[in-house]
Amino acid sequence: METMTSLPEDGPQEKFEEFLRTYKNEQGILVYWSRLQQMSIDDETSLAVDFQDLVSFDRVFTILATEDPMQFLNVLSKALVGVLHVEDPEYVNAIDTSLLRIRIINFPNRVALRAVKTKHIGKLITATGVVAEASETNSLLIEAVFRCRICGGDIPQTQEEGRYTEPPLCPVCGKKTAMQLIQELSRFVDFQKGCIEELPTDRPRGEIPFSMEVRLEGDLAGVLRNGNVIELTGILTAERTKDKLATYDMYLCVAGIQITGHTMPQVPTAESMQIESEKQLEAFLVANPSPLGVGLTCVGRQVPTDTGRIDLLLEAPDGAKVVVELKIGEADDDVVAQIQRYLVWAEEEFGPKSKVRGVVVANGFNKRMLASLKGTRYHIQLIHVSDILPEQGINSEGMAKKQSKLN
Ligand SMILES: [Zn+2]
Repeated sequence: METMTSLPEDGPQEKFEEFLRTYKNEQGILVYWSRLQQMSIDDETSLAVDFQDLVSFDRVFTILATEDPMQFLNVLSKALVGVLHVEDPEYVNAIDTSLLRIRIINFPNRVALRAVKTKHIGKLITATGVVAEASETNSLLIEAVFRCRICGGDIPQTQEEGRYTEPPLCPVCGKKTAMQLIQELSRFVDFQKGCIEELPTDRPRGEIPFSMEVRLEGDLAGVLRNGNVIELTGILTAERTKDKLATYDMYLCVAGIQITGHTMPQVPTAESMQIESEKQLEAFLVANPSPLGVGLTCVGRQVPTDTGRIDLLLEAPDGAKVVVELKIGEADDDVVAQIQRYLVWAEEEFGPKSKVRGVVVANGFNKRMLASLKGTRYHIQLIHVSDILPEQGINSEGMAKKQSKLN
């Protein structure tokens, strides 16, 4: 592997500083330069760079990004700090400079989720998928300062790979003791974890989607939203599994993100649509139950009963149980019979006093369904799929057109 010292006198950091200052797009605009000037005004700590722009400026970046992506990203971020030191010293002095990062988007090493293998570990790759899981934003401890409970000495300790690590013994007094974490002296970053799943168009029909864990730090944390279609560039990282085996899990340490859509992509047939999209709809509602009612919490999905599985079971603030049946396509009267059976089960399960009600989410409700609904003793609400999902939502030619709103 080529080392940094073998590069010409103008190192990559200087080259990148020059890129930030002088790169012009096709319209002759200093795009990065003007965005860099704007960072303090917008209170931003990162600047996204299109890798294609970078390569058109100097091909040396391809070598660096391919051979040593970690070094590549660090050099770029150092250059950003360097330029901002000159251009906006006030801003740089006011913030933690380690937060200043260059984000890379449009890196051409695109790998399909099902093709991600061990050989990609440590490499910069670009992956596309739909966000299937997104955690809340947490704080991740990066640089800890521990205080020895015996001598009171302060011991800095870097937390490697997100693992909580205490120093084995106190370097000041040499004793082995439990340490106290001094939060105000330690450094934390925002952190979000999630999972992206293959787009239906990227996988053979009928196959279970491949997925990949993704982790985001700093100002990227919080960007993941369920249902978003995103393109992520990052370093594939291995982490030892929690068992005693020498096996490793892989995750993508995200260095750049582009949200390409909120729309669930179209799938080829109505048949495959049926299974996949009910699952997608279910995942979406687990993460965002609010369209189904105020203050609802999800207490179960695919809940087994003696007559089938309840898609979603929610609890209202007053303790009432809400049985949700999802249907991609038009709901017929069999859906009423089905949800009634679940409601009977729920009534028995949670005691006669607990209130139960039902919600049917579908793309349409036919006359038979509406007629048999009149005969039920339960309260069953009808919600149209298109009223639940973000704009466009799950949409396909194979599905019934949006009908006029009921009630
Ligand atoms: Zn000590």
